Amino acid sequence: MSVKRLVRKSRLFATVVIAVLALPAGAWAADGPFPRGEGFYFDIFTVILFLAIYAAWIKTSSWVDRDAQELSLPGDMWNGLMLAGGALSLIMIWIMPVFWLSFFVFVLLLAAPSLYYVSVRNRKVKAPERVLTPDHLRSLARRYLKLDFGKASDDTARDGVPVRFFGRRSEGQPDDPNRVARVMESVGYKTAQEMVYDACNRRATDIHLEPTKSEMTVRFRIDGMLTPADPFSRATGDAVISIFKVLCNMDITEKRKPQDGSMSAQVEDHVVDFRVATSGSVSGEKLVMRILDTSQQIISLEQLGMREKMHTQLRSIVTQPHGLFIVCGPTGAGKSTTLYACLNEIDRYQQNIITIENPVEYQLENVTQIEVNPKAGKTFATELRSILRQDPDVIMIGEIRDKETAEIACQAAQTGHMVFTTLHANDAVTALGRLIDLGVQPFMIASALSGVLGQRLVRLLCPKCKVRYKPNPELLRKANLPVEKIKFFYKPPEQNDGEESEEEVCENCGGSGYQKRTGVFELFVITEKIRDMIRDNPNMTAIKQEAVKSGMRYLYEDGLRQVIEGKTSIQELLRVCK
Ligand SMILES: [Zn+2]
Repeated sequence: MSVKRLVRKSRLFATVVIAVLALPAGAWAADGPFPRGEGFYFDIFTVILFLAIYAAWIKTSSWVDRDAQELSLPGDMWNGLMLAGGALSLIMIWIMPVFWLSFFVFVLLLAAPSLYYVSVRNRKVKAPERVLTPDHLRSLARRYLKLDFGKASDDTARDGVPVRFFGRRSEGQPDDPNRVARVMESVGYKTAQEMVYDACNRRATDIHLEPTKSEMTVRFRIDGMLTPADPFSRATGDAVISIFKVLCNMDITEKRKPQDGSMSAQVEDHVVDFRVATSGSVSGEKLVMRILDTSQQIISLEQLGMREKMHTQLRSIVTQPHGLFIVCGPTGAGKSTTLYACLNEIDRYQQNIITIENPVEYQLENVTQIEVNPKAGKTFATELRSILRQDPDVIMIGEIRDKETAEIACQAAQTGHMVFTTLHANDAVTALGRLIDLGVQPFMIASALSGVLGQRLVRLLCPKCKVRYKPNPELLRKANLPVEKIKFFYKPPEQNDGEESEEEVCENCGGSGYQKRTGVFELFVITEKIRDMIRDNPNMTAIKQEAVKSGMRYLYEDGLRQVIEGKTSIQELLRVCK
């Protein structure tokens, strides 16, 4: 619905309400100067009642304000309407002579704009996000009043796991309720719900289901490490895989050839997207699903874990009007999180930002996000060509893998666009070598590239169970660390696989000794001298030496800072920076 129509509609609505209410009020006012009976108007209960209703109205108004902003509805208009309702109701209370009548009008005037708002916003959002629907009321009653008003139309109430799947909405099409209804009757449905709920609660990013002869092993990737979860029987496991295949609209009879698809689920109060891939193996069909929580907050450059000097440097690179900025590292090194943080530095209202991603991991307001789909011929290269015609200022390309994409990216960077992208390479200088290996002319790279950020994620030690120890001075000397200054390092508690481990499993981290992750970085800034070196004779060893000379610190050196501060262990740093 267009904003104009909405405004017109709501104006009409407000006029009607005012007219209806004003008529009798005017008639009463005409009856006499002050048409009320005698004495005792001040009733404490009435006052409390009115105040309570007013408080509820204030709370609702602030929700409307926030919600309208989130859904990009015209906030000014809705705030105005809410306020008008509030003001009118006050006037009505003052004018009307009969308490119950004025009370009714008071409540009506306060509630009408909010109810109208709810009806408008409910049309705009997906079913699970609608409010004041029977399902929503039931879930509120369950949560706050501990009351159960029968089974909800979905079966989350029956199973007690707040997970509800829906099929993938392919572009422009609503979810297919038949598909969802079909899987809800299947044997493994409850197991699938519980598994997804468990994975989301443990902050897993991937779920792996792998068949063996007798059972289906389940593993979650948590903080980058695969962690075993409770396995299923083979029959249940196969049923669970079938459920996900149906939801993703895959061919369920095909159990050998690799397939991929996507689906979504409502987990508690937010929507999570899943990328699902299946393939055959010797002992049966396996499945891997990637969990994309699109409601996650984008973190800022400061929160990535960089030292201050580096994020100032990085900010000045990414806010330039043109250039090519590359984040590199292996899979799962947090490259896209960093790219989003960089995008977040750019004024999205004044600049036209377009992203091409595979898949879209976070949703950004005021940014055009395009998802590649190689099956439909939408590759990074084709999409990049077409968006260059849409006059972008900033372009984010999910990944550069081929010569064509790399060349267009360089050209775009030279013709007045800021281009962000990622590259699969171990360190920053190697990423430069990778671009040359892809076949891009060194002179093109030299004039386009503004900086390369190499990164890894290290797990942070669990603050509840980390163990202090004295590091070997010999090792410190080898690593060029000040032996006198460093008194202690920290490490996770010893993992004892024996019987006694049961008594003392740290509740905070589940016994792994680590919790959450942070980034370690190396920033390769392209100075004029390095630009010349790339153009003339790209010798990686010489370029690396020059980069270090101009202040680049290697990943490992950057990570040592986190070890010295006791945030991570030296073993963990060595694991990720080998
Ligand atoms: Zn712990």
